[in-house]
Amino acid sequence: MAKIQMTTPIVEMDGDEMTRIIWALIKEHLLTPYIDLKTEYYDLGLKHRDETDDQVTIDSANATAKYGVAVKCATITPNADRVKEYDLKKMYKSPNGTIRAILDGTVFRTPIMVKGIDPNVRTWEKPITLARHAYGDVYKNVEIKVPGPGKAELVFTGADGKEIRETIQEFDGPGIIQGIHNKDKSIESFAHSCFQYALDTKMDVWFATKDTISKTYDADFRAIFDQVYEKEYKDKFDKAGITYFYTLIDDAVARVMKSKGGFIWACKNYDGDVMSDMVSSAFGSLAMMTSVLVSPSGVYEYEAAHGTVQRHYYKHLKGEETSTNPVATIFAWTGALRKRGELDGNKELMEFADKLEKATLSTIESGKMTGDLQLMTTLENTQKLNTEDFILAIKDTLENM
Ligand code: NAD
Repeated sequence: MAKIQMTTPIVEMDGDEMTRIIWALIKEHLLTPYIDLKTEYYDLGLKHRDETDDQVTIDSANATAKYGVAVKCATITPNADRVKEYDLKKMYKSPNGTIRAILDGTVFRTPIMVKGIDPNVRTWEKPITLARHAYGDVYKNVEIKVPGPGKAELVFTGADGKEIRETIQEFDGPGIIQGIHNKDKSIESFAHSCFQYALDTKMDVWFATKDTISKTYDADFRAIFDQVYEKEYKDKFDKAGITYFYTLIDDAVARVMKSKGGFIWACKNYDGDVMSDMVSSAFGSLAMMTSVLVSPSGVYEYEAAHGTVQRHYYKHLKGEETSTNPVATIFAWTGALRKRGELDGNKELMEFADKLEKATLSTIESGKMTGDLQLMTTLENTQKLNTEDFILAIKDTLENM
């Protein structure tokens, strides 16, 4: 059969350790036999990041802005151990952080649901996509340990020299103070990304803050979301048959636990930090979680939510057999291929993405899976496959579809 043709390249960001091995296997067995795969390749493996003084990460982000769609393999964020292990010139920043700073996006994490891996929350029938605002609040805080009695004030000095001043507390003894901030522009970008991704995926958006208590700070979040929605998205949402729903964070948490799922939960930075781990662990496994960075200008970068699976890589290096789960990485590729197909009007490419996802899920449902899934599944008579054999089993399913 003739291979599927592509018109525009996908930006391909290769990565590290076990996920780098999986990356090559996916391309070899599941993609290049069927697609005349056009990518612009950037090697974000730690060694090459070091050779280029991390310029390759910046180049890959700029290429993503140019072409609109990227797929990224998990990468090592260096710490002191890694600097030694790879003899690095310096402790580079997280590639995801660098890319996000250039594209100014929001990360949407979605669990991949499959029969036999049941969420811990009985009512969840559809995935919950979590969007975390990744700027400011407590993550850019300034703190003071108050030594003893005195007055704490919040002071803003305008560019024109004018002051706004509020008393925080008249301390009668030791205590603590924290200063946090956010920017309207960043909140607006977050709102745009959420509403845009909702239209893309035809899902409702839920957003929550604590604006009954935080009458200026959290109220600003709520007001900006309202403005952006009313001005640019309400009509489009009505047409698409989806809704924007605002409530208090405590009410949102209670409703999420009783919901059927199937919506985007937009969270402030801290809420997103905490809730994304709760949602992902309740849905089963990090290895079944995809992640996509959506910029307010409509640029998409797909990846798996997990890391490089270092422990399995060391086993692999010792020549031992591994059973590493490639599902989220496969779905990163299918997400990127589908989006590329959509932007280029390439139906064949979109259909292939759907088919590969189906093949992956039915392989698991037939009882063939990696070790991590076998530990969780409610299916009986399952078979644990090694990393490559599982990918080959998916290929087999794909060919028989
Ligand atoms: P990890 O996600 O690689 O592993 C965490 C745990 O989950 C491990 O116990 C691992 O065995 C299990 N796990 C994760 N994915 C799996 C899979 N596909 N199949 C089977 N089991 C899986 O995170 P970590 O160990 O904290 O970090 C390893 C490296 O990954 C670090 O260098 C870190 O910087 C990097 N990292 C990268 C990203 C990214 O690129 N997006 C994200 C997180 C961590």
